[in-house]
Amino acid sequence: MRVVSADWVLPVEGEPIEGGAVAIEDGRIAAVGTIDELGAGDHFAEAAIIPGIVNAHSHLEYAVYAGFGEGLSFAPWLARHIERKARIGRPEMEAIGRLGAAQCLASGITTVGDAAFTGSSAHACAELGLRAIVYLEVFGRDPAAAMQQFEEKAEYVSSALSDRVRAGVSPHAPYTCSTEVYAACVALGVPVMTHFNESQDELDWLLRGEGPMKPVEALLIDPDGQSGIRRLAAAGLLDPSIVAAHCVKVDTEEIDLLARNDVAVVHCPRSNGFLGCGIAPLTELRAAGLRIGLGTDGVSSVPSHDPFEELRAAISAARARSERADVLSAAEALELATLGGAKALGLESEIGSLVPGKRADIAVVSLSGSPYLPWEDPAAAVVYGGAPERVLTTLVDGEARYERGGFEWHELTDEASRARGRMLQNAATSATAISER
Ligand SMILES: [Zn+2]
Repeated sequence: MRVVSADWVLPVEGEPIEGGAVAIEDGRIAAVGTIDELGAGDHFAEAAIIPGIVNAHSHLEYAVYAGFGEGLSFAPWLARHIERKARIGRPEMEAIGRLGAAQCLASGITTVGDAAFTGSSAHACAELGLRAIVYLEVFGRDPAAAMQQFEEKAEYVSSALSDRVRAGVSPHAPYTCSTEVYAACVALGVPVMTHFNESQDELDWLLRGEGPMKPVEALLIDPDGQSGIRRLAAAGLLDPSIVAAHCVKVDTEEIDLLARNDVAVVHCPRSNGFLGCGIAPLTELRAAGLRIGLGTDGVSSVPSHDPFEELRAAISAARARSERADVLSAAEALELATLGGAKALGLESEIGSLVPGKRADIAVVSLSGSPYLPWEDPAAAVVYGGAPERVLTTLVDGEARYERGGFEWHELTDEASRARGRMLQNAATSATAISER
């Protein structure tokens, strides 16, 4: 039995405990209480113990893509990424995935819902001890071809799978996957992740066959006058196995369709902001009773896997959109990023809060020297004062998978950096080759 304690424990399910402690046994939480009850064990001064953060929508394979396509609108941004991604192979994707997994662990994240182009992030998560559902991406019109893509990726990740790292499928989006491809994915009976109603560009294409996506129409599904949500609802394909990232451009009827079919949503406010997609109606989505998690999305669209920046963005975006300061409290935001994400991924019986019997997935965040010390509201102190640099340790299944100062990851960072260099170098070379011809 190991006990960890701190100034505060925020169980998320249950009130914050001042002078709190968590007892861990066999990878699970054995007890949550006060230091008086459980002893101090390993004590972290001026710190808070929180449930490990659930990054419910990521693309760890894009961890070194920062700045690629900066300032481009959604469709050309996507084209830039497709073009550069084609220049590297699995070894590079694995190196990048390992960096992404390391960055998550170093930021207090213990679980990711990762949409994976190759599946290399499954190997990365298995190696670094990050809990994950890795959703293998498929694309196209033909369901047989999509299932072949899935089978090939599933075989590649099979040796990485365990109770901690599981596989799902990700029909990418309604503009890249036909209804038949979605049907084949749902029929697999595994967790499903997709992107719904992310941008106006997407809707301009699906509804009217126009807009900035038109130049790449050879890669796209023919428009049929409906959003993906309406098209799949009409086909009877919306169900609780589906996790939908974004849902930025949704109307009342679409929110109702998601809620009635218990589709989970992952809110990615920084990605939606940086890509100029808009501000998702989080308040309305929450009011509809949806299961909602928070996600950083890929570093292809945001600068980092920093979940604290994401929490603050969620709060400021929700309050700005609603023009009210009381729509999303720090405690409510922290719940979205932990228990909310766990519910969205269907893992809430195992993770997401500090409750006896759940897995000991825990982050310890220092607030030493922060403007929030001493604290009157520990959730606000963590959400507004937190940062990856303040994460002291991250435990998954009770095991330290990150400790500040103890994990350097030099080799891992170098490999990922070389992969980024190759993507950029190839860009320069191919440009030269074309101009020399
Ligand atoms: Zn995404």
